[in-house]
Amino acid sequence: MREKDKICIMEVIEQTMADGPGLRTSIYCAGCYHKCPGCHNPQSWDMKNGHWVSVDDLLDLIKSDEFSNVSFSGGDPFYQVDAFTELARRIKEETNKTIWCWTGFTYEEILADEHLAQMLPWIDVLVDGPFILEQRDTTLLFRGSPNQRIIHLTPEEEDIIPGTVPLVRPR
Ligand code: SF4
Repeated sequence: MREKDKICIMEVIEQTMADGPGLRTSIYCAGCYHKCPGCHNPQSWDMKNGHWVSVDDLLDLIKSDEFSNVSFSGGDPFYQVDAFTELARRIKEETNKTIWCWTGFTYEEILADEHLAQMLPWIDVLVDGPFILEQRDTTLLFRGSPNQRIIHLTPEEEDIIPGTVPLVRPR
């Protein structure tokens, strides 16, 4: 299998309501080098703690649930951007599901890196930026600190949740 054909994951949680609006199939990947102090999931930093699953198998699992949309979390999916882009592209081309994606990179950092930015066209909502322990706020929905933004990249997910910011499109 090529690198873009498989993803190192910690787990997949089906029909969760914790990772975005409504029911979602959440893919928690392994691998994160941001190493934010106070990270909710430090065991996900090391890819050795994960296991490899093919993009085909993940897509089959996602498609088997008629009602759930999809979330990518971790870990940081952008450290496996080739394979997650392949999965996201196929989800958007073969289903009508929406995709939320969490990352420790900022939106601006992703835009400035052509390799990372390849996934953006297939994502509906990006929750960006590192977790900042000193700013932790447990009242926030879907994010741990207020620097993290809920950025709608498409109009498909219409829920406007506190933390949603207007999208500044790149020039
Ligand atoms: S980006 Fe997320 S998974 Fe990675 S260290 Fe920060 S809080 Fe943890």
